[in-house]
Amino acid sequence: MYENLLERFIAYAKVDTRSDDSSYTVPSTHNQVTFALELAKELIAIGLEEVEYNEMNGFLTATLPSNIEEPVPVIGFIAHLDTADFNAVNIRPQVHPAYDGGDIVLNETEQIVLSPKEFPRLSNYIGETVITTDGTTLLGADDKAGIAAIVTACEQFLAHPERKHGKIRLAFGPDEELGARGAKLFDVDHFAADFAYTIDGGPIGNLTYDNFNAAQAELTIRGTSVHPGSAKDTMVNALLVASQFATDLPQKETPEHTSGYEGYYFLTCQSGNVDEVKQTYYIRDHDRENFAARKRFFSDQVEAFNARFAEPRIALTLFDQYYNMRDIIEQHPVVVDLAVQAYESCGIIPVFKPMRGGTDGCIISHKGLPTPNLFSGTENGHGKYEFVTLETMAKSIDVIMAIVEQNAALSGTAEASGNTGNVAVTESSRGIR
Ligand SMILES: [Zn+2]
Repeated sequence: MYENLLERFIAYAKVDTRSDDSSYTVPSTHNQVTFALELAKELIAIGLEEVEYNEMNGFLTATLPSNIEEPVPVIGFIAHLDTADFNAVNIRPQVHPAYDGGDIVLNETEQIVLSPKEFPRLSNYIGETVITTDGTTLLGADDKAGIAAIVTACEQFLAHPERKHGKIRLAFGPDEELGARGAKLFDVDHFAADFAYTIDGGPIGNLTYDNFNAAQAELTIRGTSVHPGSAKDTMVNALLVASQFATDLPQKETPEHTSGYEGYYFLTCQSGNVDEVKQTYYIRDHDRENFAARKRFFSDQVEAFNARFAEPRIALTLFDQYYNMRDIIEQHPVVVDLAVQAYESCGIIPVFKPMRGGTDGCIISHKGLPTPNLFSGTENGHGKYEFVTLETMAKSIDVIMAIVEQNAALSGTAEASGNTGNVAVTESSRGIR
């Protein structure tokens, strides 16, 4: 077990780094800067080099220099500094060693209980050290567990020079929880890695590189508001037009009716009155062609509605948010192969699940740096039932170190290096899943 891990994770978790969607500063909250600067001191103290905080994008980056002669691809590890939109004031992580499989009382006074009856996945962790909240905040293991794992792995390499590794780059960035807003400003050229992994969320085994293509549609529906007493043949009630529009979309293609690779239309927000209504929709699909078809269908619906009136009533703004990283990762199968081999060498069965969302990694992959996501162990993220176990975090460190060591063992066999963003695809490649 890694000695400092529990202490390190708890220290990180206690820091309030909640991001704020209503803020347009970079990062969105100053707490994230404070945390990044503290983290920078720690990285320097454990012996990492090129520790830099970039004020323009809020990313903290650092380097673990290679301790081998031969050049091997430079690997990046990335985690996010911010926590989700949930109370993060006075986070008091609770440590429950040797979990017995029963209910965990998070908060006596408010009778908040983390129970395997409600969260059956808890039963996977019997005997482990479960770290929870006190029922009043989130835990922020998403993504402090990822940061703790990456830092601890580097600390291990520095403490054990006999363990061979190429050059490793680290990046800790802001505002992932705001639709990966932080990653959009990430400087891939400056990071100068050949490929990378985000360590962000998901139970043990998760290995993700297949996420949604995502677009957002903003509708402004203009009504004609007149006194209801003289409304006949004059009033156009924007509220009714908006309701009709929403219910005319395929009703089985919504988040609550879909799973796996099924895409959807999601009415996320609606406000207004008879005179004007604004609606926001998310359009999602893993497949690029289906994604395009969904956007076309949505635009056609708007056109069809407008045709019913003497003049157009619905104004549409439609824009893409992010794309499936699979399109990029498939060009670099060695990135997934390396992770799969590392999982297997740690006795972990890889779990490939389509991700019904996005990550920093999909933004970064589409900037040219292939970046799948690896588990960090977080369960029930974004709320008071969030938890992680010490044992899973330790496994995450094992995986990071195994990836790095297997990459180092490739020296002389893999041609790739020189920070080109391209990695050689070896004959032994197992192909993408
Ligand atoms: Zn996360």
